[in-house]
Amino acid sequence: MGLYRVDTEMASRKVDYLLIGGGLASANCARWLREEGAEGSVLLVGREPDAPYNRPNCSKGYLRGEEPREEALFRPGEWWDEQGIELLTRTSVTGLDVELRTAKLSSKEEVEFGQALIATGANVRRLNVDGCELEQIHYLRTLGNADAIREGVKDAREVVLIGGSYIGCEVAASLTAMGKRCTIVMQEQTTLERGFGARAGRFFQELLEAHGVTVHGGDELERFEGDGRVAKVVTRGGLTLAADAVVIGAGVTPDVQLAQRAGLEIGERGGVRCSSRLQTSTPGVFAAGDICEYDSVVHGETLRIEHWDVAFNHGKTAALNILGRDVAHEEIPYFFSVLADWGELEYVGPAYEWDEEIVRGSFDDGKFTNWYLKDGRVRAALTFGRSDDLDHARRLIVAKPVLDGSQRATLADAEADLDTVGR
Ligand SMILES: Cc1cc2nc3c(=O)[nH]c(=O)nc-3n(C[C@H](O)[C@H](O)[C@H](O)COP(=O)(O)OP(=O)(O)OC[C@H]3O[C@@H](n4cnc5c(N)ncnc54)[C@H](O)[C@@H]3O)c2cc1C
Repeated sequence: MGLYRVDTEMASRKVDYLLIGGGLASANCARWLREEGAEGSVLLVGREPDAPYNRPNCSKGYLRGEEPREEALFRPGEWWDEQGIELLTRTSVTGLDVELRTAKLSSKEEVEFGQALIATGANVRRLNVDGCELEQIHYLRTLGNADAIREGVKDAREVVLIGGSYIGCEVAASLTAMGKRCTIVMQEQTTLERGFGARAGRFFQELLEAHGVTVHGGDELERFEGDGRVAKVVTRGGLTLAADAVVIGAGVTPDVQLAQRAGLEIGERGGVRCSSRLQTSTPGVFAAGDICEYDSVVHGETLRIEHWDVAFNHGKTAALNILGRDVAHEEIPYFFSVLADWGELEYVGPAYEWDEEIVRGSFDDGKFTNWYLKDGRVRAALTFGRSDDLDHARRLIVAKPVLDGSQRATLADAEADLDTVGR
């Protein structure tokens, strides 16, 4: 019997830099490899059909149909060729051997690499309740999901959002701006309170309510009802809400499956454990973005953060370290969220816990900075309409001075010069 090439046999090739995951962190890493003069071959592998793009657009202008798809792209299509970066979309990395430095692709190729970045992002948490298979129940992570929601709500009047965090709030704002009647159901008492506390959360909830969003806090999804298509949301607290469509924003989990199977260390926060240089437990393999759990030399603790700006900056730090520059990731994590054209919040931190809040300005005027302190030190700041305070917050988060009574009073004073605080 002769020898036949079997289907499973893999074609093999070599690249200098393999970037796994087609999101922002990988894309910005590819960019910085080139900007910093790397001449070797760069291969970026992503399983989505689109080239890397900015996910924040998916709950904002793109969802509302106000922006074309191209506007969300990290770079225009031709940029990848111009940079000599090979981009494989609709392709998954199915296996990774960090000792042999090889990766298997769903295209049946095997790639030998010099160094790798793993930036596989996060997956939405799915709620497995009765009726969850009905039509017009959506999750939101991709441009494709945003297309499905926009299409699905076309003839909808009532939309129910499950979850009161930033996805639920932003989508409620966007769909309200599109003329839909939106209702949020959430476990928290007030919107956004898990990240920002009840008082600031109340401000955002009132902003949503003032624009017609109904909010049911302290409740939970029990089941969906409908005949083929969702018609009702039933809650544990006994509510039955009419729903022509549902969008679930119940958080995400870092997609560490590939990393875990490859034997990379996983950290306490569920991410791929990395040094301050974003190197994983295997030299030559780095991680970035939503999956990256790194030692922050600035904060003196490990962080894992799901923010656009963090993924963006991680991509750069990873690229520099791939090129041997040996730099710690020192950016202070920054987050923004936009509620239609009603306003934008910004946050630097993070404060996983705090024991004191100081308000600068006032919630009533809709212009404030809320400082989060622990043991007298500023850990984070949330601002709405006072972006200039963010640089002061960054400085205080880095320097960590213990603030006395008069310095705290200055933080609260809307007119005071903050330059003196903590000096
Ligand atoms: C709707 C929405 C709105 C948001 N709005 C904001 C905002 O306003 N402000 C903010 O700060 N943050 C926001 N974020 C969060 C921010 O977009 C994310 O933190 C960021 O995209 C993370 O980037 P990443 O590169 O780590 O992961 P991702 O963007 O998730 O990219 C990872 C990619 O890797 C792919 N992948 C996974 N496994 C494999 C594999 N084995 N092989 C190949 N490919 C793989 C995934 O399919 C995905 O495309 C938003 C997120 C969403 C979903």
